[in-house]
Amino acid sequence: MEPDRNWAGNIAYAAKRVHAPRSLAELQEIVRKADRVRALGSRHSFNRIADTDADLVAMRHLDKLLAIDTTARTVTVEGGITYGGLSPALHQAGFALHNLASLPHISVAGAAATATHGSGVGNKNLATSVAAMKIVTATGDILTLKRGDADFAGAVVNLGALGIVAELTLDVEPTFEISQRLYVDLPFEALADNFDAIMGAAYSVSVFTKWQGDLMQQVWHKARADAPPPPDDFFGAKPATRPWHGQCPRGRPRPVPCRRRRARTRPRCPRRRPGSPRPP
Ligand SMILES: Cc1cc2nc3c(=O)[nH]c(=O)nc-3n(C[C@H](O)[C@H](O)[C@H](O)COP(=O)(O)OP(=O)(O)OC[C@H]3O[C@@H](n4cnc5c(N)ncnc54)[C@H](O)[C@@H]3O)c2cc1C
Repeated sequence: MEPDRNWAGNIAYAAKRVHAPRSLAELQEIVRKADRVRALGSRHSFNRIADTDADLVAMRHLDKLLAIDTTARTVTVEGGITYGGLSPALHQAGFALHNLASLPHISVAGAAATATHGSGVGNKNLATSVAAMKIVTATGDILTLKRGDADFAGAVVNLGALGIVAELTLDVEPTFEISQRLYVDLPFEALADNFDAIMGAAYSVSVFTKWQGDLMQQVWHKARADAPPPPDDFFGAKPATRPWHGQCPRGRPRPVPCRRRRARTRPRCPRRRPGSPRPP
């Protein structure tokens, strides 16, 4: 049975029926017979954009990688594939997408349909890697569109309103590595004064704060491994001198030795003895 809520649980879908086709022909037949129909990706939208009061088509079974064209540097996938499903297979073949969703279980077609931004201010959004698409239109027929076609640009970020995207062809590039440097204690004033420079300083930059005091606790500076090495002083933030991971609800996380870090899924916080004062 298909889930009747979105991933966050804040939306109960109003659809009368939820289909989950296992082939393109089955998908076409469902669309042909339906009065009104809408595609359902990985259900990560927080609003009703993926909802209908008629027929929903969950794409989760149509999740295969169909072909990698090493000459054209493209990959063709079915409309239900997720970034987590696609990326390891691409990596094994020596290729990568230019940018990824922040969560592996988000569907590529859903991300493209909504122009999901991915990470890094200098990286184009996830829809920009679409080079071609096959859409099942209201009649159940297949419309193929590719970059350069008159209607292509308007069809990629379609908000699910143009039909069901059954296949996507995406640009890929040779696999690349990302190295991450962690800085601590970025002064809030430095962030406010240099926001664009800080966020644009690497392939992707993340800043974490507990909104307490004048310091941003962590800055994750993620750069392509072949980029120049990051500076030691990053707008007043200092490189972490020991491994840190995540944010701790009770103050600063305790550093976790690297060899033990892999085994643990959550950062361990310092234990507070009953009655002892909370950390600032
Ligand atoms: C915890 C969380 C973190 C997130 N992080 C980010 C983030 O870092 N960056 C960001 O930009 N966004 C983020 N989002 C938003 C998310 O990426 C978008 O909502 C995206 O659209 C979700 O894709 P989906 O496949 O789950 O789409 P759904 O919610 O299932 O559908 C979204 C839209 O896409 C359409 N659609 C889906 N598949 C198809 C298809 N095959 N053919 C035609 N239309 C289709 C649907 O009809 C609908 O209109 C996040 C969401 C959550 C819940």
